[in-house]
Amino acid sequence: MNECVFCKIVDGELPSRKVYEDEEILAFHDISPLAAVHVLIIPKIHITSLADCTSKHQDLLGRMLLLAPRLAKEHGLDTGFRTIINTGRGGGQTVFHLHINMFGGDRPAQA
Ligand SMILES: [Zn+2]
Repeated sequence: MNECVFCKIVDGELPSRKVYEDEEILAFHDISPLAAVHVLIIPKIHITSLADCTSKHQDLLGRMLLLAPRLAKEHGLDTGFRTIINTGRGGGQTVFHLHINMFGGDRPAQA
């Protein structure tokens, strides 16, 4: 039984406000946004963190990262945006399924 919240979102067991989806990647609005726009970009396969990635994930990681500016533009973040990947407990990671935080807009984050 998989208790991973993001895997449940990928599987449709939990709802999300999707903003992008393809065969490998899902992006959706964070349920507790740090800014006016706060999107999470995740791989559909379960990868615990960036520290668990290997060269076989290189293309996937590149595609995830390239989605950030595209989604930022689509959400009106014309002057810029932030991207954060928290890795491991010591890195502030709270959901242990790799995700890129992309956020910006008013209510700037203190993170
Ligand atoms: Zn997962």
